[in-house]
Amino acid sequence: MTALPPGSTIGILGGGQLGRMLAMAAARLGLKCHVFSDSSGPAFDVAAAHTVGDYHDLKAVRHFAQSVDVVTYEFENVPRATAEAAASVRPVRPSVKALEVAQDRLVEKTFIAGLGLPVAPFAAVDSEDSLLAAVKQLGTPAILKTRRLGYDGKGQARIKSTSTTELAEARSSSGRAPAILEGFVNFQFEVSVLVVRGIDGTECFYDVPLNTHKNGILDTSAVPAPLSSATRTKANEIAGAIADALGYVGVLAVEMFFVGEEASAPLVVNEIAPRVHNSGHWTTDACLVSQFENHIRAVAGWPLGPADRHSDAIMTNLIGADVNEWASLAATPGTAVHFYGKNDPRPGRKMGHVTQLLPKSADVDG
Ligand code: AMP
Repeated sequence: MTALPPGSTIGILGGGQLGRMLAMAAARLGLKCHVFSDSSGPAFDVAAAHTVGDYHDLKAVRHFAQSVDVVTYEFENVPRATAEAAASVRPVRPSVKALEVAQDRLVEKTFIAGLGLPVAPFAAVDSEDSLLAAVKQLGTPAILKTRRLGYDGKGQARIKSTSTTELAEARSSSGRAPAILEGFVNFQFEVSVLVVRGIDGTECFYDVPLNTHKNGILDTSAVPAPLSSATRTKANEIAGAIADALGYVGVLAVEMFFVGEEASAPLVVNEIAPRVHNSGHWTTDACLVSQFENHIRAVAGWPLGPADRHSDAIMTNLIGADVNEWASLAATPGTAVHFYGKNDPRPGRKMGHVTQLLPKSADVDG
C-alpha cells in the first residue's frame, strides 16, 4: 500500500489524552485527525473533526470510518464489533486481532506463552472450585485478576492462603467475573518496551523505561532503566516477537517484570497494550520522533522515524490535584509540561505529566 499523503485523515476511536497527543503528532506531519468518542474529551480540542457517538452504534461507526482514510484507536477496550464495523469500511491499524488478544488476560497470557515467551504461571478461574484448584497448583501468594476490563490494578485481589473465606472474598471482590490466577512474580522493578512496527514489518524500539506506580496508577517512567545490554536486547526481542506474531502495525507497549540479571528468565511479560502508552510519554521530549508520531507514521504507511533518545528523562504523571501546581511546574528549569485540558482534577484522574530532561548517561554496562 502507498503511504497516505499529508492532507489525509486518520480516524481515532477514543477521545482521551492519548488521542490528543496522537492528533498533535499527526498535525506535525500535515495529517488531520477525526476523533470518535462516546463523550467529549481532551482530543476534541486539537482534532480537525470530532463525532460524539455510541461505540455500539455500528451505523455511526461505519459513517465515521467512511469520513477517514485509516482508523486507529487510543484505548484497548474498543468493543470488538465496533472495530470490525470500522474494518469493514477502512483499514483498522493495529488490527482487530491485537485488540482481541489484549482485551482478555487469559487469551493474552496463552498467546504470549504460546510464543515461548516468559509469563507468570497462570490458570483460568471461573468458580470457587477452580480457584481453589488454581491456588493449589500455583501456590501462594498469587493474584486473582478479572479476565476483561481490568487496568491499573483494578479488579485484582491478592491471595495469601487457601482459606475458604479468603478465596470467597477474592471471588466476590472481582465480581465473580471470569478470571485468571497468576503466580506471584518476585520482581526487582517494572519496565516496558515500546516497539513500533511499520506496515512493511520494519520494527524500531524506544529505550526501556523503569516504571513506578502509586495507588495502582503509573507514577514515573525513568529512562534508561538499569538493565545490561544483553537484557535490553532480550526485552526488545520479546516485544518484537509479540508484534510480529500479531502482524502488528503501530506502537505496542509490552509491560514486563525485571526479575534479576542472574535469573534464567530475567524478564517476565505482564501484559500488552495495543496502543501508545503512558510509559512512553517521555519520548515526546527526549526523542527526535515520539511514540505518538511513530504510531501515526506506522498507521499511515509512512517510513518510521528514529526512536533514539537524545537525553535521559524522568516522566512524572500529574494525578488529580497535582495539576494545581501547574505554574511552578511550568517555571521548573529543564522540565517540559503537558496538560490535558481536563477541567475536573478528581483524585486518581490523569491531568497531565511533566518530563524532566537530563544529559544522556552511558549505559550501565558501557
Ligand atoms: P496489572 O493490572 O496486570 O498491570 O497489575 C497491576 C500491578 O500489580 C503490576 O504493575 C504489578 O505491580 C502487580 N502485579 C501484577 N501481576 C503480578 C504478578 N503476577 N506478580 C507480582 N506482581 C504483579
